[in-house]
Amino acid sequence: LGPVGLILGVLLTGLVIYIAQRRMSMEGELQAAFDRDEFFVEYQPVIDLRTGRCVGAEALARWRNEEGKLISPNVFIPLAEANGMIQRITTRVMELVVRDAAELLRTDPKLHIAINLSSEDLHTHGVEDRMKELMAGAGMGPGSLMFEITERGLMSPDKARGVLLAVRAGGFRVAIDDFGTGHSSLSYLATYELDFLKIDKMFVDTLGTDAPTSLVTFHIIELARSLGLQMIAEGVETEAQRDILRERGVQYAQGWLFGRPMSIHKLGEFIVQAAS
Ligand code: C2E
Ligand code: CA
Ligand code: CA
Ligand code: CA
Repeated sequence: LGPVGLILGVLLTGLVIYIAQRRMSMEGELQAAFDRDEFFVEYQPVIDLRTGRCVGAEALARWRNEEGKLISPNVFIPLAEANGMIQRITTRVMELVVRDAAELLRTDPKLHIAINLSSEDLHTHGVEDRMKELMAGAGMGPGSLMFEITERGLMSPDKARGVLLAVRAGGFRVAIDDFGTGHSSLSYLATYELDFLKIDKMFVDTLGTDAPTSLVTFHIIELARSLGLQMIAEGVETEAQRDILRERGVQYAQGWLFGRPMSIHKLGEFIVQAAS
């Protein structure tokens, strides 16, 4: 081992320690975020492509830390999944949705709000009971709520199945999220009781381009139809994408073309505007 090797070794060890420390401090911050009440939720409108109306929204978790910096859920959700804090976050999001959206849903009971679940939420019973209690307290029925579960969340299907059935039996709707990006086998998919399939942005992006992968997107649409699932296209950014989806019979969509994630107050205004 020459001097260069030695220096590299020291640098590498330093880097590993640095990364571990950052991760640990981030974990500590995540803990403290609960006490400091730093989480909130934004709502991205879901549009009915046949009428142009807003039929509901997806609740997306947000964390603004002590320095006022927004941390992406792509960072803190995986961290929370890894360190066992995700269930607390899920509960917090459910509380916030019930607090924010109760009035909106009472004025228009046909609207539905979607909440994202992690696979960890599916491995312990109780998520549906927690939600039912919260909703009952706010005078809401389960019909106005949907849970989104990623394909990855269905990776250990036998564990997930029981919870999923209970969620469905509780009157909640269920969507499979990020469809096409995981490895769920189609035979399993057919045995779940799902209501919606969300076509991932990755596939929506291919529409209107001559990429051969746009054919894959069309197959996914046909697959969903043959399974009797309703579809929500994600990440729609252009009118061309919207038009192709509509032609192909995809009924619902969300994306920047229609609206970015927003406060519940803005969502209320958005719904009124989209209806006129
Ligand atoms: P997701 O569930 O697939 O949510 C869609 C993401 O795409 C959101 O990012 C949304 O803001 C973004 N998006 C929507 N429309 C467009 C568009 O037209 N263009 C582009 N470029 N992006 C668009 P966000 O809010 O950063 O969330 C990222 C991911 O974090 C979510 O992906 C979801 O997997 C996870 N996540 C967010 N909130 C929660 C939560 O409460 N619980 C759990 N378990 N996961 C969550
Ligand atoms: Ca989602
Ligand atoms: Ca998604
Ligand atoms: Ca995604």
